[in-house]
Amino acid sequence: MKYDVIIIGLGSAGLMVADRLNDSGLRVLVLEQNKRAGVKLLLTGNGRCNVMSSDNAEDFVAAVHNGRFLRSAYHKYNVKKFFDKHNLKLKQENRRLYPASEKARDVVNTFKIDHAKINYNEKVEDLIFEDEKLVGVRTNIDTYYGKSVVICAGGKTYPQSGSDGSLHRILKKHGVKITKIYPSEVALIFDDFKELSGVALQNVKMFHKKNERVGDLLFTHKGLSGPLSIAMGEFVARFPEDKFYLDFYPELNEEALFEKLWQDNKFLSGKLPKSFYNFMIDKYFPENVSKKELRKFVSKIKRYELVNIKTMPLEYAFTTAGGVDLKGVSPKTCSHKKIDNLYFAGEILDLHGEIGGYNLMIAWFTGMIVADAIKEKFGLEV
Ligand SMILES: Cc1cc2nc3c(=O)[nH]c(=O)nc-3n(C[C@H](O)[C@H](O)[C@H](O)COP(=O)(O)OP(=O)(O)OC[C@H]3O[C@@H](n4cnc5c(N)ncnc54)[C@H](O)[C@@H]3O)c2cc1C
Repeated sequence: MKYDVIIIGLGSAGLMVADRLNDSGLRVLVLEQNKRAGVKLLLTGNGRCNVMSSDNAEDFVAAVHNGRFLRSAYHKYNVKKFFDKHNLKLKQENRRLYPASEKARDVVNTFKIDHAKINYNEKVEDLIFEDEKLVGVRTNIDTYYGKSVVICAGGKTYPQSGSDGSLHRILKKHGVKITKIYPSEVALIFDDFKELSGVALQNVKMFHKKNERVGDLLFTHKGLSGPLSIAMGEFVARFPEDKFYLDFYPELNEEALFEKLWQDNKFLSGKLPKSFYNFMIDKYFPENVSKKELRKFVSKIKRYELVNIKTMPLEYAFTTAGGVDLKGVSPKTCSHKKIDNLYFAGEILDLHGEIGGYNLMIAWFTGMIVADAIKEKFGLEV
């Protein structure tokens, strides 16, 4: 049997594509190597699933790497309305939206995909081309022919959830350009504070010459974690030659902090967690306080250089940076510019966002774009 659409991967993006094609009358086959749908989606937001952000278009575009690719999708589609229509109640915490039940499972279950034929436990091993036209896919079990193929196979992180990078290899083999892959939203390996493992600091700044973030920091037995390190992880991966620094007291600039400490050398006591304060004092506070020595201490607080900092390996990152090169993809249809019946949605694309629901929004938007483009191609109402 020849299918109209073959979807590879039933994670977040695959669920969106399948749902939007569910009532189209098109013959849809979904191939998923896991035994169930949305395995990574179930892990999101610690099982609560930060399903989207309430950002406006400008903030959304700024929070997403290559975000301009999705600018018109942001204006065309309304993710919140989609979930409203599916009777999934959402609740908002700051700018983050979660299912009101706080259960990622409810997000997975909200998608209507009953008209698709879904083959679980089936791994796609290759794409089939005949006379240079994409005609189907080969799996570990069978060969399937389809008029359109949609790649929703995810990135390369958390491979135990199924996103093992197999489609990156297959696509490369067939001439689809993949940009450099590196971890994003990832904890950091750093030796200096290991003995403080478990200690958390609030309102710390991390920076290098191009980017800075302020947030909470957690010392771990491997290095640094918490929202701040996770947010800066992609820059550490992307700019390995750069020097990175921590500012443990961004409230005051270097000169002002120096003045405060010159007047009262216990100024920081009580302002930083005790164990961290004691650690810094023991290690760096001068025995004989001269202005010169005190300035050295201040620079340890304001510009602590993170020598030899590294990210945890790709498989531990929340998201994959890099993927299918957007230069080869139409933003209107998310199809390949040369192989026009090959579509992409989700993390397989060179799009990733910060923590805050942006990565799922990428999956939702690109899934919507692909499904509507396919419907239009088949002359169906969108
Ligand atoms: C722990 C964790 C927490 C997260 N929390 C959030 C959050 O709260 N909010 C947010 O916005 N983002 C979050 N993310 C990121 C978000 O989950 C992903 O960006 C998103 O799920 C990507 O969707 P996707 O459909 O592209 O890929 P996936 O959801 O990874 O789905 C890809 C699917 O393709 C299948 N597949 C791959 N290769 C093959 C093959 N060869 N044959 C058959 N099937 C294949 C896989 O088995 C998988 O089911 C989190 C990520 C992690 C790891």
